[in-house]
Amino acid sequence: MLQLHNTLTRKTGPFKPLKGKKVGLYSCGPTTYNYPHIGNYRAYVFVDLLKRYLLYRGYMVKHIMNITDVDDKTIKGSMEEGVSLSEFTAKYEKAFFDDLKALNILPANKYPKATEHIREMVAITKALMKKGLAYKGEDGSIYYNIRKFKDYGRLANIDITKLKAGASGRVKKDEYTKDDVQDFALWKAYDKADGNVFWETSAGKGRPGWHIECSAMSIKNLGKTFDIHCGGVDLIFPHHQNEIAQSEGWTGKKFVNYWLHNEWLLVNGQKMSKSLGNFFTLRDVLAKGFPAVAIRYLLLSTHYRQQLNFTFEGIDAAKASVERLNELIRKLGGVKGSSKSSVLIKKEISAASTAFEKAMDDDLNISEALAAVFEFVRQMNYHLDNSTIDKISAAAAINFLKKVDSVLGVMSFEAEEKLPKELMRLVEQREKLREEKKFAEADKIRAQLREKGIQLDDTAEGVKWKKIV
Ligand code: AMP
Ligand code: ZN
Repeated sequence: MLQLHNTLTRKTGPFKPLKGKKVGLYSCGPTTYNYPHIGNYRAYVFVDLLKRYLLYRGYMVKHIMNITDVDDKTIKGSMEEGVSLSEFTAKYEKAFFDDLKALNILPANKYPKATEHIREMVAITKALMKKGLAYKGEDGSIYYNIRKFKDYGRLANIDITKLKAGASGRVKKDEYTKDDVQDFALWKAYDKADGNVFWETSAGKGRPGWHIECSAMSIKNLGKTFDIHCGGVDLIFPHHQNEIAQSEGWTGKKFVNYWLHNEWLLVNGQKMSKSLGNFFTLRDVLAKGFPAVAIRYLLLSTHYRQQLNFTFEGIDAAKASVERLNELIRKLGGVKGSSKSSVLIKKEISAASTAFEKAMDDDLNISEALAAVFEFVRQMNYHLDNSTIDKISAAAAINFLKKVDSVLGVMSFEAEEKLPKELMRLVEQREKLREEKKFAEADKIRAQLREKGIQLDDTAEGVKWKKIV
């Protein structure tokens, strides 16, 4: 049974969805004010791994990810560029979706935007005021009174009863640290710095705070109580703590059953972040010639609750691991004939499958899951080297890898297919030149194919080709 670590209880325990095999999953999405860095993508790749494993286990997942297209940073950015807020955020939203595709991240069911849910946010804000949980400050902004919510601090492990009465004050900024426990803005009264970004609403002229959008959009799409909410560890406080206060304060029901948080991607021991300037966007890394699949592998291959230090050597190693998997798939695809090893291979597939699932069931223990996969790779390579695998067993092995890859999303099964005709013609032309001992010309074609991402290997059974990732 799948066990997950819940930040709320600080324990790892069995995952039981609210409604049978249906899972409601919400993950905090990007603030579209710049190109996300690969640290951000660690968060999105983690959710993708979780979601893919839930699907593997037969759950039906409804996944919602918000787009924060109005906040302090997006307003500042659009003003600096002298363009409208929507024009400014549209550019980065597109970049985000391009990156998700490049990283083979399964699309969410919906990507609701903050600017399209102002009405819902105002409604919650006003309901919270009516319940006495929120109040209007002198500046016209509406704040959540954190002392009125009895569980405030539970997720973030903060004891607010130890705060001096009246010492906390209010905070209007979207982001702040754990040392800054204060009443937070649900609705921000218009300020000149907001330029032409404001809404005239029954809560006043202004714009929503950041935290309220996730309460509004998650509840709208997944209901008052849903199964899983994810994000990076920096979101535990204040963002997710505030989401709980807003949602539970409003509905009177438990908001989320399982809170899952991923750890940092580090650079030289420090969190990769925009503010420290130690970041790489996905574009930066791809421009250096690294394939997106290697970045995906790197980001998912360390357990999500462990910090991961980013290095280019790490991407190289990830690339080599992906190549090793693809090389096996290619070789298995070329197996012909029959032998007597199928019983043993069946056993090896079954053992690898059990080990993979046991590891993933243990709070997505990816290191052990990958160890099981690479033990299987070793076994299959042994059979291939000793010709103790037949076509049927090879097909079964490929099927198993396909199943594993529905979770990992890094392998390429194209090698089973044929090369495009024009490339195949080049391969044949080179063969002919080699037969005619025109090696220099043959080498030119080999280089030409390499540029197109095809590597040729001359083996005892003739020329073989493979895609280079
Ligand atoms: P943001 O756009 O800053 O709200 O971040 C989007 C997501 O990326 C959040 O879930 C963050 O927790 C996560 N995140 C930001 N920096 C890192 C990092 N260096 N490592 C892992 N996750 C990160
Ligand atoms: Zn959120």
